[in-house]
Amino acid sequence: MKHHLVEPGKKIKLAERDPQDTGDFKGGKEDGLKEIVKLNEKLQELQELLYAEGKHKILVVLQAMDTGGKDGAIRRVFDGVNPQGVKVASFKVPTAEEMAHDYLWRVHKVVPANGELVIFNRSHYEDVLVVRVHNYVPKEVWSKRYEQINAFEKLLAENGTIILKFFLHISKDEQKERLQARLDDPTKHWKFSLGDLGERKLWDDYQSAYEDALNKTSTEYAPWYVVPANRKWYRDLVISKVLVETLEGLKMKYPEPKDDLSGVVIE
Ligand code: ATP
Ligand code: MG
Repeated sequence: MKHHLVEPGKKIKLAERDPQDTGDFKGGKEDGLKEIVKLNEKLQELQELLYAEGKHKILVVLQAMDTGGKDGAIRRVFDGVNPQGVKVASFKVPTAEEMAHDYLWRVHKVVPANGELVIFNRSHYEDVLVVRVHNYVPKEVWSKRYEQINAFEKLLAENGTIILKFFLHISKDEQKERLQARLDDPTKHWKFSLGDLGERKLWDDYQSAYEDALNKTSTEYAPWYVVPANRKWYRDLVISKVLVETLEGLKMKYPEPKDDLSGVVIE
């Protein structure tokens, strides 16, 4: 999955990352889906271990353009995990109370505790994306945020949080198709907002804002992956694989029993 990584210190161009790419995966959709099932089984075991061991904290950040597939990825990648140890935090337009605080206040409150895995559906990155594109705050305010975000994520990492950030990269044509599909399906109308059309007009501004965010905030302790996301199966495969490999790398162990259990007989 290395070639989807934004290597810390190096600059990428989003236009050079193909949303249609399937990396070095040899098979097609059918093989991909089988692989996802296997990875999902492993993820379920690893998450159980994470929860039991209670030592590490996992933060998964998902960002994407509208229809980029955050909801679908959450549904499929985390299918069957233990809801006790996994939470999703969604970041919407800030409330009045949130607006009255610094932008990281609402974020810090919901980061994972020991043994937890928290998925951010949108995140503090909105404060250098939508906020920048719409000039909700002046440039001198948002431009300082990249460093602030790096410092914040460093604080989390140094206190036991593993941070993985995924940008689900779709093409503008793919977004058109997905928006049209939502429009054509009454059961998807709840997901459609006229505002999405206005945002679509700002596509290029968003791509630039994303490119900057990826280049300025991909660090050793909180790397970004640009996930080719036109193909949903490949998107889910990349996220699953990075997660499984990262969790396996932690070499977690079930905790020792609190009591000596040898020779215990249950009458
Ligand atoms: P999504 O589009 O993520 O699937 P949704 O459609 O269920 O979510 P929306 O009402 O679209 O929900 O909520 C997300 C909206 O909130 C997005 O337009 C996003 O840009 C906006 N938002 C998130 N954080 C901020 C922020 N800090 N400042 C301004 N707007 C924000
Ligand atoms: Mg939306």
